[in-house]
Amino acid sequence: MSQPIQTRALIIGTGFSGLGMGIELQRRGVDFLILEKADDIGGTWRDNTYPGCACDIPSHMYSFSFEPKPDWNYMWSFQPEILDYLRGVADKYGLRRYVRFGEHVARAQWEDTENRWHVVTKAGQEYVAQFLISGAGALHIPAIPEFEGLAEFLDAGGAAFHSAQWDHNVEIAGKRVAVIGTGASAIQIVPEIVGEVAQLQLYQRTPAWVMPRPNNAIPAGLQKVFATIPGTRALLRALIYWIHESVGFAMTRQPALLKLGELLGRWNIRMHVRDRELRRRLRPHYRAGCKRILNSDTYYRGVADPKTELITERIVRITPRGIRTADGVERDVDVIVFATGFHVSDSYTYVDILGADGEDLVDRWNREGVQAHRGITVADVPNLFFLLGPNTGLGHNSVVFMIESQIRYVAQAIAAVDKAGMQAIAPTRTAQDSFNAELQHELERTVWSTGGCSSWYLDDHGKNRALWSGMTWQYWLATRSLKLREYRFSGRR
Ligand code: NAP
Repeated sequence: MSQPIQTRALIIGTGFSGLGMGIELQRRGVDFLILEKADDIGGTWRDNTYPGCACDIPSHMYSFSFEPKPDWNYMWSFQPEILDYLRGVADKYGLRRYVRFGEHVARAQWEDTENRWHVVTKAGQEYVAQFLISGAGALHIPAIPEFEGLAEFLDAGGAAFHSAQWDHNVEIAGKRVAVIGTGASAIQIVPEIVGEVAQLQLYQRTPAWVMPRPNNAIPAGLQKVFATIPGTRALLRALIYWIHESVGFAMTRQPALLKLGELLGRWNIRMHVRDRELRRRLRPHYRAGCKRILNSDTYYRGVADPKTELITERIVRITPRGIRTADGVERDVDVIVFATGFHVSDSYTYVDILGADGEDLVDRWNREGVQAHRGITVADVPNLFFLLGPNTGLGHNSVVFMIESQIRYVAQAIAAVDKAGMQAIAPTRTAQDSFNAELQHELERTVWSTGGCSSWYLDDHGKNRALWSGMTWQYWLATRSLKLREYRFSGRR
C-alpha cells in the first residue's frame, strides 16, 4: 500500500457541493484535496445521462451566484449543458489538479490523539486530513427494488438498468420498454423515448402532480441582453428565486394554498389526455407538494401516446420474458428501466464514519435518526461537515443556494478553529438537539407531513430527515454566521 497522503481538508465528491467548497478553500488559502469515485467531475450531472435528463429548477437560479452564465440555452437546462457549466467552472478555477479520480471513500476514522481524519478509499489509498467535508449528497445511490426474477430475465437476454446508470449500449429503438416509476426522472424519460420504442409499458405506483411548463429555447437576443445589460440577469435570478420561495411558503406554512396548484395539475392532464379512464388513473389523491411537484409539457402527451400503456397493477415479479403484475397478466419486455429513485434515508450507511472514541455514526443515526447541527456538523464528531446533509434538501427551490450557504459556514468553522489556536471543532449536543427539536416541530405542519402521501422525504419512522423546514432565506440566516456558543473546540495547537 502506498504512503498516506496528507492534506488539510478532504472533500468528497465533485458535484456542485464539492467544486463550490474547493473554490472557497482555494480562495481562503486552505490546502485541500477532492476525492471523486468516478473518472470525471460532475456528480449528479455526470451520472444521470438518461434521455431527456434536465433540471426542474431554472438554470439562472440553479447555478453558482458567483459564476453567472448569461447564455443558458433553456430556462430549464438539459443535463449536457449543466455538466458543461460545471466543467467550465472546474477549469476556470483550475480545480482538476486537486481531484483524485477513481477514489471511492470506504471508511473515515477520527483519531482523537492526532486530531486528524484517516480516510481509506476502496482502492486502499489512505488520506490524512484535519477536516473532512462530504459533498456526496443523498441522491447518488440508485435504488432498484428487489423484484424476484430479475437475474433470470437478464440470463434470458433481457436488459435492465437504473435511470441514473443508463446503458447507452442498449438499443431501445423498436423495442418493448418498461419504465418502472413515475417520479422526477421517469416523467422526463417517457416523452423522450416514446417516439423511438415499439411499446412503452409505464408502471405507476403513485401518480405525481405534474404542472405545465413550456421550455422553449431562450432566444439569442435575450441571451445577449443578459450578457450585456447590467442587472438583467440578476433581476431574472431574483424573480425566479422569489417565485419559488412563494411555493415554499405554501409547502411549509400554508399547505391548503397548494390546492391552487392542483387546479393547474388537473388542467395539465385534461389538456393532453382525452381518455377519461386514463385521466382518472393519472390524478393524484394527495396534496400537491407532498411528493416533489414535477413540471412538464410533454409527459402526459407521452402517456397518452398509443404506444404507451399505463399499468397501475402492482408488479409481483419479473419473469424470463417480462413483468408479471398482481392481476396475473404477464407482459413481454425487452428492456426494463428502473426509474425508481435513490437510497436516501440510508444513504449514509454506505460509508463507515467513525467519530470520537471510535463511535460509529451509522449506529448513532440508526438509533437516533439522521440529524446534524444546522444540517452540516455533528455533535461530538470533530471537524466533519456535510454539504446537503440531513434536512437541507428542498422541495421548492435551488439546492445550489443551500450549498453556498453551507460552504460559507464550513469555511467560517475552519477559520474559527485557526483563530482559537485549536485543532478541532464540533457542535455541542445541546445546540444540535435544540436545533433539531425546533426543526422537527416546524416540519409537522408542512405538506410533507400533512399531505397524505408517503415519500422518500420521510424515514422508516415517518420523520422527515431530508428537507429543510422553511424558506431558503431562513436557512441562509441560520447559517450566515457560525455561533461559537454552539460549538466546542478541542486539541490545543
Ligand atoms: P423518485 O422521484 O423517488 O421516483 C421513484 C418512482 O419509482 C416513484 O414513482 C415510485 O413510486 C416508484 N417506485 C419506487 N419503488 C417502486 C417499486 N418497488 N415498485 C413500483 N414503483 C416503485 O425518483 P427519481 O425520479 O429518480 O427522482 C429522485 C429525486 O431526484 C427527485 O425527487 C429529485 O429531487 C431528483 N431529481 C431531480 C430532477 C430535476 O429535474 N431536478 C430530475 C430527476 C430527479 P412511489 O411514488 O409510489 O414511491
